[in-house]
Amino acid sequence: MAVLVPRSLAAAVGMLDEHPGAVVLAGGTDLLVEINERHRTIGDELTVVAVNRVPELRAWTFDRDARTLRLGAGVTYTEIAADPIAAFVPALAQAARTVGSPQIRNTATIGGNLATCSPAGDGLPVLVAVDADVELVSTSGTRTLPVGEFMVGVKQTALAPGELISAVNVPLLDGWQGYSKVGVRNAMVIAISGVCLAVDRPSRSVRIALGSVAPTIVRAADAEAFAAERVDWGRGPGNETVSADDAAEFGRLAAAASQPITDHRSTADYRRHSIDVLARRLLGRAFAVEEAA
Ligand SMILES: Cc1cc2nc3c(=O)[nH]c(=O)nc-3n(C[C@H](O)[C@H](O)[C@H](O)COP(=O)(O)OP(=O)(O)OC[C@H]3O[C@@H](n4cnc5c(N)ncnc54)[C@H](O)[C@@H]3O)c2cc1C
Repeated sequence: MAVLVPRSLAAAVGMLDEHPGAVVLAGGTDLLVEINERHRTIGDELTVVAVNRVPELRAWTFDRDARTLRLGAGVTYTEIAADPIAAFVPALAQAARTVGSPQIRNTATIGGNLATCSPAGDGLPVLVAVDADVELVSTSGTRTLPVGEFMVGVKQTALAPGELISAVNVPLLDGWQGYSKVGVRNAMVIAISGVCLAVDRPSRSVRIALGSVAPTIVRAADAEAFAAERVDWGRGPGNETVSADDAAEFGRLAAAASQPITDHRSTADYRRHSIDVLARRLLGRAFAVEEAA
């Protein structure tokens, strides 16, 4: 096995081009588990391209005019969980804080979470809710895909041979946002279900994305349309309200958008129920809930 350690993005994609079938290594928190569990074999022929010393992948930038945060694929969950990134995308920071343990977060990257493309990846519902784009680079150039098109199935992505995720572009919304997940304990747990809710006041939209309840992350379009109509936006920023009945219906609509399975972590029924509860709870954090008189 050969391990190559590029020091620039150009060198990294050059190596992937020269070594078809090479495996990218970022933080290693998914890849090494796969190798340990023998889901992936390492033979003498294998080339690993370890990208954690590529400065372009480690960097993040804020574009004030476009109101977009560009996170290099190698930005870690520890960095995302803290300011300044946390102040820009609070829901992503909340999701980051639920990933594994401090040791895992110190090395696990947003690019690795995307490339693994598990339906339980905690960063992914947030990226889907805010309509993030994934930037892919190879020796042929750069292309950008909406995250919903990048994820094509359980642990399947649109990454082409020789391509590397270089960054994820995260639009900054104007409104409350949050991420909640259900697991069998409070830390070091893969989500049984996860929900991101993100409000954008200027467009009067409520976005909701569901994790661990379908082959990839799904948006609950009916719940979104219902909330946009039923929230009382007229009371001004921070004073919007929703009725308790409408919050309950929002939860039901969100749960109806899930397509959960029963597996070793949960039953499908429990997953569906948990989406209902999480969606309703998050809506109640975004807006004041008014009980009927
Ligand atoms: C103990 C433990 C707990 C965990 N808990 C959670 C959790 O709570 N929530 C959660 O979401 N995840 C969890 N994970 C999974 C993992 O930490 C995350 O998915 C993490 O974001 C993976 O990032 P990484 O940099 O370690 O990826 P790696 O393991 O280095 O790579 C993962 C995959 O992505 C590919 N890849 C990496 N970077 C790129 C790139 N730039 N371009 C193209 N392909 C790339 C690799 O080739 C590999 O196939 C846990 C893992 C462990 C071991």
